[in-house]
Amino acid sequence: MSRRRRIYEGKAKILYEGPEPGTLIQFFKDDATAFNAKKHEIIEGKGVLNNRISEHIFTSLNRIGIPTHFIKRMNMREQLIREVEIIPLEIVVRNVAAGSLSKRLGIPEGEILPRSVIEFYYKKDELDDPMVSEEHITAFGWASPPEIDDMMSMAVRINDFLSGLFLGVGIQLVDFKIEMGRLWENDMMRIILADEISPDSCRLWDINTQEKMDKDRFRRDMGGMLEAYREVAKRLGIMNENEPVRSKGPRLVSSKDD
Ligand code: UDP
Repeated sequence: MSRRRRIYEGKAKILYEGPEPGTLIQFFKDDATAFNAKKHEIIEGKGVLNNRISEHIFTSLNRIGIPTHFIKRMNMREQLIREVEIIPLEIVVRNVAAGSLSKRLGIPEGEILPRSVIEFYYKKDELDDPMVSEEHITAFGWASPPEIDDMMSMAVRINDFLSGLFLGVGIQLVDFKIEMGRLWENDMMRIILADEISPDSCRLWDINTQEKMDKDRFRRDMGGMLEAYREVAKRLGIMNENEPVRSKGPRLVSSKDD
């Protein structure tokens, strides 16, 4: 096991102390959970795929000027990230009706929304992450009005960029969840994108077949979750089809005697 100090363990990731102050190591586990961890399984290799997919997305976002916590990928399951103060909100952006929005408002799954919609949820497992309004966020001091403006404009840019990225590989970005954090540099503070963006936190549908390529396969007992995640990675051109995602230990890839 690791000799590093564990800072935090969540449902799908572990955060360890980083090599330098202000950095952390984010480890992607194979655990799949849904309904606030009431449903739980190990999907061997999921962590490896999410590490790669999230790396690809965060690197691309960094390139277009959206600040993120991502510094570099270290190995199959770990990335070096900047330590931030996580804002206790889940920001959900939706383009197409699905999941809780369909249930709450009675809009059939698959209906294109008249415009993209941003929602906030309060990160509190004991309460099942309730939806909150900007009024709640400012009244309870989770974020200030300018911070909310910042988060919303970043969320819109991320949505536009990701919608195009996925559309280019035949995938419809239905909705996704992001988290943001505060980063202090000297006396200045700015909000940057944190956590991960992967098929665990997005709804991704094949453009032609409408097939689900995301965590709904697990939530709805459809099977084929790992295959779907691997297909997302393959379409994004970030993983060799034959690259193993299941191997846990070191593997001999070549030898001088070959
Ligand atoms: N989501 C997430 N973590 C959560 C809740 C939602 O990553 O704790 C993502 C989910 O994968 C989907 C989007 O946020 O892409 C919207 O989810 P929704 O509110 O429809 O909730 P669900 O149907 O998953 O309960």
